Amino acid sequence: MIYLNGEFMLLSEAKVSVMDRGFLFGDGVYEVIPVYSRRPFRLAEHLRRLGASLAGIRLANPHGEAEWTALIERLVDQAESSDQQVYLQVTRGADGKRNHAFPRVIRPTVFAMSEPLLPPPPEQRTQGIAAVSAADNRWLRCDLKAVSLLANCLLRQGAVEAGCAETVLFRDGFLTEGAASNIFVVQDGLLLAPQKNHLMLPGITYDVILELAAGHGLEYRVRDVLEQEVRRASELWMTSSTKEVLPIVSLDQRPIGDGKPGPVFEEMYGWYQEFKQSVMHRG
Ligand code: PMP
Repeated sequence: MIYLNGEFMLLSEAKVSVMDRGFLFGDGVYEVIPVYSRRPFRLAEHLRRLGASLAGIRLANPHGEAEWTALIERLVDQAESSDQQVYLQVTRGADGKRNHAFPRVIRPTVFAMSEPLLPPPPEQRTQGIAAVSAADNRWLRCDLKAVSLLANCLLRQGAVEAGCAETVLFRDGFLTEGAASNIFVVQDGLLLAPQKNHLMLPGITYDVILELAAGHGLEYRVRDVLEQEVRRASELWMTSSTKEVLPIVSLDQRPIGDGKPGPVFEEMYGWYQEFKQSVMHRG
């Protein structure tokens, strides 16, 4: 079952107009919310970011927080798997003709579905992943979680074709993020995170990582991170809602640190699992 424009239906029955602006222009925003043991993780934060993305593209939020929560709960309850990823998408809907400017009357297309949450293969955590780097050639509103992901798709494909799992992006000599993740650096035990701005997505997992660092007394700085600091890091991590936190052990075929998941990663991974458990039990 999926949700489309006020109705629950089978995925095979769901239809959207070819004139939908999401299809024609990538004119829409989305969210991906991890669900553990049928409990959405950081739901309020995801809904807040959805609200910010909608405001950023000047599209009215079709639902209040209570409505979103109810429809997500219904999708989560009827899904088979207890660990899930809920996908939400709102586009500026269809108009009679293809026209860049907004339609006069806007009927947004609202879509939500739940899929099983597949954790990354365990060896990605125990052995680490390889990454490539690329120039960040995206637009200047990377803080909006927009469905127009062509640049991200091309950048991620670059990693896949090099046999790697992620592309680390640099803009003007500074780290921004990954093609579909945020990136953290460890420099001799000190955690570094690029500051949130229009050049990166404000990751929900990014916030969790910094909260866990603060809560466990791991020293960290949020500041601009130089490309050279990434290349010379003792550890490099990627974070996202579906992959949680993973160690990057090589960049452009050169080892990061000693080429193995580092001790600070191991600690953070443990804190993350512990935190997830506590949230699941608290509800
Ligand atoms: N940056 C980009 C470009 C992403 O697509 C994502 C999510 N896949 C992230 C960062 C991580 O965000 P979150 O932790 O909220 O999943």
